Amino acid sequence: MTPVSNAPRQLLRRLHRIMAGAGSAEQRLTEVVRLVASNMIAEVCSVYFMRGGEILELFATEGLKESAVHNTRLRAGEGLVGHIAATGLPLNLSNAQKHPKFVYRAETGEEIYHSLMGVPILRAGKVVGVLVIQNKTQRQYMQEEKESLQTVAMVMAELVASGDLFDPLELQEATLERAATSRFEGVVFAEGMAEGVAIFHEPKIEVIKHLTDNIPQEKTRLAAALMALQEQIEEMMSAEDVRHQGEHQEILDVYMLFAKDKGWKSKIEAIIDTGLTAEAAVEKVQLNNRARMQKMTDPYLRERLSDLDDLANRLNRHLMGIVGTAASENLPDKVILIAQNMGPADLLDYDREKLCGVILQDGSQTAHVSIVARALGIPMVGQVGEAVLTVAESERVIVNGVEGIVYFSPPTEVLQSYQESIESRNAMLAEYDALRDLPAKTLDGVDVELLVNAGLSIDIEGLKRTGATGVGLFRTEFQFMVSASLPRVGPQAEFYREILESADGKPVVFRTLDIGGDKPVSFLKRDDEANPALGWRAIRIAFDRPALLRYQVRALLKAAEGRELSIMFPMISDVSEFKMAREILDKEITRQKKRNSPLPKKIRVGTMLEVPALIWQLDNLLPLLDFISIGSNDLMQFFFACDRENPKLAGRYDPISPPALKMLKSIVDKCNDYKVPITLCGEIGGKPVTALALLAIGFRRLSIAPASVGPVKMMIRSLDLAGVEDYMAGLLSRSDHSLRGLLIAFAKDHGIKI
Ligand code: PEP
Ligand code: MG
Repeated sequence: MTPVSNAPRQLLRRLHRIMAGAGSAEQRLTEVVRLVASNMIAEVCSVYFMRGGEILELFATEGLKESAVHNTRLRAGEGLVGHIAATGLPLNLSNAQKHPKFVYRAETGEEIYHSLMGVPILRAGKVVGVLVIQNKTQRQYMQEEKESLQTVAMVMAELVASGDLFDPLELQEATLERAATSRFEGVVFAEGMAEGVAIFHEPKIEVIKHLTDNIPQEKTRLAAALMALQEQIEEMMSAEDVRHQGEHQEILDVYMLFAKDKGWKSKIEAIIDTGLTAEAAVEKVQLNNRARMQKMTDPYLRERLSDLDDLANRLNRHLMGIVGTAASENLPDKVILIAQNMGPADLLDYDREKLCGVILQDGSQTAHVSIVARALGIPMVGQVGEAVLTVAESERVIVNGVEGIVYFSPPTEVLQSYQESIESRNAMLAEYDALRDLPAKTLDGVDVELLVNAGLSIDIEGLKRTGATGVGLFRTEFQFMVSASLPRVGPQAEFYREILESADGKPVVFRTLDIGGDKPVSFLKRDDEANPALGWRAIRIAFDRPALLRYQVRALLKAAEGRELSIMFPMISDVSEFKMAREILDKEITRQKKRNSPLPKKIRVGTMLEVPALIWQLDNLLPLLDFISIGSNDLMQFFFACDRENPKLAGRYDPISPPALKMLKSIVDKCNDYKVPITLCGEIGGKPVTALALLAIGFRRLSIAPASVGPVKMMIRSLDLAGVEDYMAGLLSRSDHSLRGLLIAFAKDHGIKI
């Protein structure tokens, strides 16, 4: 029994009539469930609304016992209806009673119904009810039917908004109910600490009119809003600080691509054709996108969902005449932005002087907005959940982007202690700034070279701010990760040239693409690998897809025209792999020469050392290299067989331990024998105490995050290196799990600032 193809349109037309008709809200609700049941050939159609914030109450039904109305109540999470409310996702079951969440309620008489389809009723993104249909037979409802049910659910949200069914404040008050002062936990997306007043990034938008009988007018409104959206993006693209930042430009390019996408427009128009207003149609298309994209396993594509959400919201703001976010308002001095999620472009809209921190209901660490927040040094805590909805505009807020905690209206003592630690953090930062132009030289006169790790053009700011001597690791994959398609040679070269130019003569070591593993890109389909860190990644991909590396190398050669180019390869496991990579580079150099194209004035070629096997090939490898760089993040995970991403294993093994330090020392010693410069560019170089251990075993060059340069330099300048070298020599033969405690005690005794 499939509905006839014009059923959705017919359904909407009748729905429109009911909604515009006379009668109480309850009567209209009853008419709607009757209509849905008959139109969708369902034996049951019921609607539940959320009361008191967490109880779902049956408000109307066609098919279940009349007496159950207002008597059947479920907690969110209880039964199938509660499950739909708790997850906010539709459910489509041919045999509902087999579902683990099924609970039987005698008063409804629903035991004879087998199939069930339910969708959440959403208002401004929040679940306010559930709409369900049921049939006796075990049938699988079709996609088209699910969409119809979702449309009806959208319209039902209007009834809640009207306040005729029950006081909508009941919903709000229930959710706002929380302790006067609250502490919530989230995830650190960008490090730092801040305190200020809560400002909602977007005035909450809610579609209040869903149905229309003037379809051409809605299409004209849509076209005008799309135009305004494109203009808005264009404006953002030409903003002074975005023009100089390649990756932000890229992100906006992707936005523009979506905004001009004919497919998007025609999907919205097709829904308008069924009788929905333009804004309801935008919401519906986004609902479908969300359902589709949430199922995707590729994290890159799932991230694009937040970009799309952002765009759909922007479009709806144009349609409803609510243009602009809080960024265009008159803001107080210390702003903590509150948002469900936001796009990177949104963040760039704000006045940097005033924006102190961000709290997101959702979001993820790898989302563009988090990358941008880290690059701008704006503390950001995400995945705080619905708790975010309990904050009031202008309420005082603390963002602890070190431990992933936020406070709303903190008690005075907590606020004071945070203000003190923010102040002392700032004082520390000022102290580090003061070291900017001083050398990283130990008390006994040994020079150490401190370089920075970078991946965004904005990171070059860090190079300047810290006074580091160059970029020891430029992770080129970021440009690829934020791009919807493979960046072509021209834009790649342009980006690298910009980096070299802004580095202002300081050396930059470019690492060729290190994609795969934890770094997905959209243009390369990957298998689900059981062990992605050990899988098809980095140089291994490049050997199977040589054009990727060839084009990148070509772009690098072009970009470094007349300058020095330093280039290294990730995840090299044996000498033959280095030779193969080098061969690709040499072929490109020959190609440039043949075409009389300009070349860098000098090319230095090196490799990352991240795979332990390479340590036993150094005698063969080192004579072939200009430099080597230890990627300790990967090297340690392979050395200890310990996933670097697994939080349960964090801190289980210590690089400041005899086996790890002995291994690292053997590499340094070999490099010194062969006079090959060696750098360490993993995270361990960035912590003063680990950096101390590294210096003690012979490292003299570290490439670290810009924020680590100050603390590590301060440690170096307080250090008598000969003393710590002697001490360390005596420790390496011990069998301790970690030497950290001993080293910290030594540092304290000898005034080393760690
Ligand atoms: C490393 O593995 O230590 C490294 C620097 O590379 P990435 O963290 O980018 O894998
Ligand atoms: Mg690595």
